[in-house]
Amino acid sequence: MDISRFINPAVKNAPKDETGIIRDLIDKIGASGEKIINMDLGRPNFDSPASVAEKAIEAIQDGKFHYTSLNGIPELKLAIAQETEAKISRPIDPDDNVIVTVGASEALFNIWLNFLKPGDEVLIPTPAYVAYVYILSCLGIKAVEVPIVKDGQVGFDIKDFEDKFTDRTRMIVINTPQNPTGMVFNKDQLEDIADFAKANDLLVVSDECYDNFLFSGEHISIASLPDMWDRTFIVNSVSKTYSMTGWRVGYVVAPKAFIDIMATSHGHLILCATSFAQYGAVEAIKNVKDEVVAMKEEFLRRRALVTKWMDKIGRFPYVKPEGAFYVFFDVSASGLDGLEFSKRLLEDYKVSTMPGSAYGSDFNNYVRLAYTCNYEDLEEAMKRIYEFSSKLI
Ligand code: PMP
Repeated sequence: MDISRFINPAVKNAPKDETGIIRDLIDKIGASGEKIINMDLGRPNFDSPASVAEKAIEAIQDGKFHYTSLNGIPELKLAIAQETEAKISRPIDPDDNVIVTVGASEALFNIWLNFLKPGDEVLIPTPAYVAYVYILSCLGIKAVEVPIVKDGQVGFDIKDFEDKFTDRTRMIVINTPQNPTGMVFNKDQLEDIADFAKANDLLVVSDECYDNFLFSGEHISIASLPDMWDRTFIVNSVSKTYSMTGWRVGYVVAPKAFIDIMATSHGHLILCATSFAQYGAVEAIKNVKDEVVAMKEEFLRRRALVTKWMDKIGRFPYVKPEGAFYVFFDVSASGLDGLEFSKRLLEDYKVSTMPGSAYGSDFNNYVRLAYTCNYEDLEEAMKRIYEFSSKLI
């Protein structure tokens, strides 16, 4: 049966990214038994904290395996509210301002489903997390890419937004620290974005999934800037901070009017985030501190290693990461585009990375690597990248 006529045209026409090509290749090489050094996924190699696992197991043993309150268990909403309150210095009501979702992924989908309509436009600084453009496109919403990286340098200027603004623009989506560059929006840039959002009556989604992995200075949420709370959705999750990607717990913190609207679709689509995972997340947010510091220190050490090698290669301009755990670099000097570079690096040197095209249509010549593997593997992988690059340059 030909199912193509049944497929939603918005889904059919959504941009296909090239990460699938790399994933298929990884599976193929993996099946042949060869070891790959994985630097493709944003999945830290650390175990989830033991105390978190214990609390989840306890929850199961205590019979906490049924649906929970749809917006999340009270303990978790309280922990999220208290933590966010400290970050943005304003009172957060756990019942009115918090909804627990299945990762930041559901949070983003739910916001876009409820607060945008087909034909609306969303300004997104790119390169950006691969899912943004795809999901928005499936909903018939136009993701307007605003490239802010050129020749490996970040150059965000609010003029870039002004140039792309139309009478259909409804929302800005920012991610700081950012996947895939590790860039951090500084206070001046955030203030410019805030003024622009207010002047043009736009909503703002602030994806702060990497806020604990900032290598210097303090994380600033745009929601903490004057008069921004009323128009901002803070999106976050336990996935990266606590190395809990498989637990699937995320959340939105926003004004009550937004949360109330989101609660209905969340209830119908998801009902609630996994019960025992929520108990684990309470433990993570309230009590896991040392492991987060240790992970951050380790990422700092790895960043130093990766940038040392990138500097040694010398011909691939890259964004110096200020946070998260990625390096995004321009491989034009190799004569290959990002996909070809990633493919050959994987086939010939058994190191997996992601092609830059996945993060925006202006980045075909870029590659993203995630320093989420252990230090020894990372060192070996960087040597291989150096070797591969030396042959090409
Ligand atoms: N936002 C960004 C910027 C991400 O990088 C990711 C995951 N890579 C997500 C959201 C989704 O995260 P979660 O596991 O919380 O759904």
